[in-house]
Amino acid sequence: PRSFLDVRDLRIHFNTDDGVVKAVDGLSFQLDRGKTLGIVGESGSGKSVTSLGILGLHRHSKARVSGEVWLDGEDLIAASDERVRALRGQRIAMIFQDPLTAMHPYFTVGAQIIEAYRVHNNVSKKVARQRAIDMLGRVGIPQPARRVDDYPHQFSGGMRQRAMIAMALVNNPELLIADEPTTALDVTVQAQILDLIRDLQEEFHSAVIMITHDLGVVAELADDILVMYGGKAVEYGTAETIFRRPEHPYAWGLLGSMPRVDRDVRDRLIPVKGTPPSLINLPSGCAFHPRCPYVGYNGIPCRTEIPTLAEGSDHGVACHIPPAERQRIFSEDIAPA
Ligand code: SF4
Ligand code: MG
Repeated sequence: PRSFLDVRDLRIHFNTDDGVVKAVDGLSFQLDRGKTLGIVGESGSGKSVTSLGILGLHRHSKARVSGEVWLDGEDLIAASDERVRALRGQRIAMIFQDPLTAMHPYFTVGAQIIEAYRVHNNVSKKVARQRAIDMLGRVGIPQPARRVDDYPHQFSGGMRQRAMIAMALVNNPELLIADEPTTALDVTVQAQILDLIRDLQEEFHSAVIMITHDLGVVAELADDILVMYGGKAVEYGTAETIFRRPEHPYAWGLLGSMPRVDRDVRDRLIPVKGTPPSLINLPSGCAFHPRCPYVGYNGIPCRTEIPTLAEGSDHGVACHIPPAERQRIFSEDIAPA
């Protein structure tokens, strides 16, 4: 393995009555401790399934999984169910868009954090309770010693999100996966939660995967960005590269819908029209071709040949337009003069 997390050719396919859903189809990426990877795409691009695959949560479903997920030198795909369960919540933790998918409504917030801690640590209830109070304080819950005995519904949406983060981080996970963690929150709380994740990451030196449909969320947080479309990576590189000189026509569209981009740029970008493809019946060739303004550009075989991302390069782009041409189109037609 080349990194703390090294995902190689991950495939997660589901059999359904309508056919095989290729939710993740040959995904590779690396992530080091202390770094953040943003996985960006529309809903149905396979980005959430990717995280479930890393967590081993597909194991209870009828998914067919192949590839390798190396975490600190151990392949999680090959590991036993028991081993993966032991790692989950301890070395790997996850936060979701909706805290109620992670927190049970009938138990107090404190009881759930205590349980999450005691599953992996042989400590008394008293010690675990103090740990829960400390964690609630750390994520910015006021009067944590009092609020620890509240039920989730007694917290506001933003506070529930903080409590879920406290629960996810109670065991100092080395890998934190956050799936749309701020989507349901208003802009101010969103910014606070992202700051909180960044602070905790610095403190714990964890690797973070931030999954989002919104490039704006990862603009300041991510070191690397992987853009997913139709279950595959279409562009992968450093955040600086993806924001400064993206090369995939889909990324041009995504950047165009991002409010942080300089207005002159946004006005020139082509919005992504149309809807994401069905993962059962992907368009032939480049899955993006029905929506791509450059389909067939200079006679390239968009409808028949699947473009691939160059393996191991610093900046991978799955598009048939030659690299120099993509850069020229971006700098002349899309980026401001
Ligand atoms: Fe567009 Fe063709 Fe590139 Fe796909 S391969 S992104 S259809 S130009
Ligand atoms: Mg999702």
